[in-house]
Amino acid sequence: MASTSAARRGGGASMRFKNATDAFVSDNRPLIADIRKALNTMREIAVEMERFNRSEEVRELEDAFVELLGTYEECMNFSNVMESVGNNYQPGLELTDFNKLFKNEVSRLKCNASSNRQTAAMLRQFKEAVWNVHHSGQPMPGEEQEDIVMTSTQIGISNTVCPISGKSITDLAEPVRSMDCKHVYDKSAILHFMKKNPTKKCPVAGCPKPLQANRVVCDTLLHVEIEELRSSNKNTVEPEGIEDFTALDDED
Ligand SMILES: [Zn+2]
Repeated sequence: MASTSAARRGGGASMRFKNATDAFVSDNRPLIADIRKALNTMREIAVEMERFNRSEEVRELEDAFVELLGTYEECMNFSNVMESVGNNYQPGLELTDFNKLFKNEVSRLKCNASSNRQTAAMLRQFKEAVWNVHHSGQPMPGEEQEDIVMTSTQIGISNTVCPISGKSITDLAEPVRSMDCKHVYDKSAILHFMKKNPTKKCPVAGCPKPLQANRVVCDTLLHVEIEELRSSNKNTVEPEGIEDFTALDDED
């Protein structure tokens, strides 16, 4: 029975390790949210300065923006690495070389990092916001695409509608997110759903991840991302033929 107890010990170790990496990722999230807020503020200030034709300051601000964006990307990548290592770690017979484990994960995630696409979109958004001050409606030089709105995925929101209540994520009073699949729900709706469904699989169509009450949470980063989604929605034309419920909520 040695192998069973070894497996149990291993299971305990990987569980403890996962708890530790989860705690790290949670602790890192307010930092990421703060940097993101700072980046948004810098963009707003740059736009104001551009209005007053203070081009030199705008240029300096863009340099600082790029630098902070690099830090933001590093923080995101580090969190992603921690999360992924925590999810996949299995103790073997030999002692684990954690340094190697992290390094491998860093190079693996660098190849398909969504954070790179996100920061590229954020820099583009900065440049376009500044450009639009004096050149609204004209395409920015060197850019072929005309769409200036960041997609919800680039912002970090993977579903724009709560799969249970059908409400738009931007209209939710209490949004929560699954730490496992990153899907966002209406808090009361998902709590009710978890009570009624013993299997507790994520209700987003095609998502195989199970739901755990203690891993469906709201964090500052989610609020920042939803706020960004809201302002990016303002820039898009409302599709016709869709009833607008948002006006009802505007009163309070
Ligand atoms: Zn899901």
